Amino acid sequence: ISTAAGLDARTTALDREYVFHSWSAQAALDLPVIAGGAGTEVWDHAGNRYLDFASQLVNVNIGHQHPAVVKAIQEQAELLATIGPATANLTRGLAAQRILSKAPAAFRKVFFTNGGADANENAIRMARLHTGRDTVLSTYRSYHGNTGAAIVATGDWRRMPNQYARGHVHFFGPYLYRSEFWATTPEEESDRALRHLERVIQSEGPATVAAILLESVPGTAGILVPPPGYLAGVRALCDRYGIILILDEVMCGFGRTGRWFAFQGYDVVPDLITFAKGVNSGYVPVGGVIISDAISATFDDRVFPGGLTYSGHPLAAASIVASISAMEDEGIVENARRVGAEVIGPGLRALADRHPLIGEVRGEGVFWAMELVKDPETREPVGADVIGKLKTAVTSRGLMPFTADNRIHVVPPCVVTDDEASRALAIYDEGLTSVEAGH
Ligand code: PLP
Repeated sequence: ISTAAGLDARTTALDREYVFHSWSAQAALDLPVIAGGAGTEVWDHAGNRYLDFASQLVNVNIGHQHPAVVKAIQEQAELLATIGPATANLTRGLAAQRILSKAPAAFRKVFFTNGGADANENAIRMARLHTGRDTVLSTYRSYHGNTGAAIVATGDWRRMPNQYARGHVHFFGPYLYRSEFWATTPEEESDRALRHLERVIQSEGPATVAAILLESVPGTAGILVPPPGYLAGVRALCDRYGIILILDEVMCGFGRTGRWFAFQGYDVVPDLITFAKGVNSGYVPVGGVIISDAISATFDDRVFPGGLTYSGHPLAAASIVASISAMEDEGIVENARRVGAEVIGPGLRALADRHPLIGEVRGEGVFWAMELVKDPETREPVGADVIGKLKTAVTSRGLMPFTADNRIHVVPPCVVTDDEASRALAIYDEGLTSVEAGH
């Protein structure tokens, strides 16, 4: 046994013995060993390389080990590795300024959290205090994080064993491929989804609704690119009924869609924006809320009853400044847009033409889903067995996939090259062919 292979075995042994993992029954876990990475690739100790087409949890937008971000963290660690939130710190101020420079003019301040869940938690708190109302509306097809209100705002199954927050009501957002509204065109889907939402608001009592919380482009739920007019229509309903619009940009923000914020493609300005993941690609855990003028003013003379020991942590702040600078200097957001439009999108559509397993592909930038079906007519989703086989097939060919329900999400870092995207498309192609052939 070589030293490298021995390290992989030791890593697996320590992990199985001592580490308790997320969202899993612990006994049957078989996790890949990752020892290093660069750009779009990661590898184990033995040197087996994988194209990271999951960007881990869709968060490593700038790619692995970007030297400028690593250096900024090292330099900040030498200068001041930690400092409490009730201080003014230069790096923190610069990070907030850089984030605000990407947001619409109506935004004034940033509240830093440890990640995406507590960003949503605090956005909900702000909306409730600002409006004096209680109810939060969010969609069934959503994920907003794993804490008190964020997990109950989540629509998917992860909500159900965790319902200990109050005042949450769910509705259906648009999803033309599996329309809840018998729609056949994007316009119909948008109109009818808006009509449904307005009826939910009216039925709950508009004066009780504090906020509508939406992922600008629902991510884990299937990369459900909203139809034309939908987000603008939600904004209009919020204005009509005095409701705060919170857009969750945790997964879709900071370059993922080929824009700094996903909502910037949809003619809508929210009241609160939540972010995490791509803001610094997770080099240090961080998230936050970008706060509009009006909501920020609510807390000018009134105490904001919330805080975290690590709010605005200097290592996170340094990584944010470096990450946004590098993304600007190296045209990384533009790269995501171009590779999506020129390579990934056309490539996935060509796969869909050849493989009956693919019912639909959709997405933009480096944010795509392939929806796998038993039959293109009935659109019946494939089961976990098919997804499992495909996952094994592509992993053995050197690609780390992101899978959710009956889908493969094609979500590489924003720095992905044309060549890497083409190699990945070839691997998906071979994987689909092998699964269709029954092995
Ligand atoms: N919101 C969205 C849209 C997400 O995709 C996620 C995580 O996947 C979260 C919130 C929660 O973020 P975190 O895991 O950093 O708490």
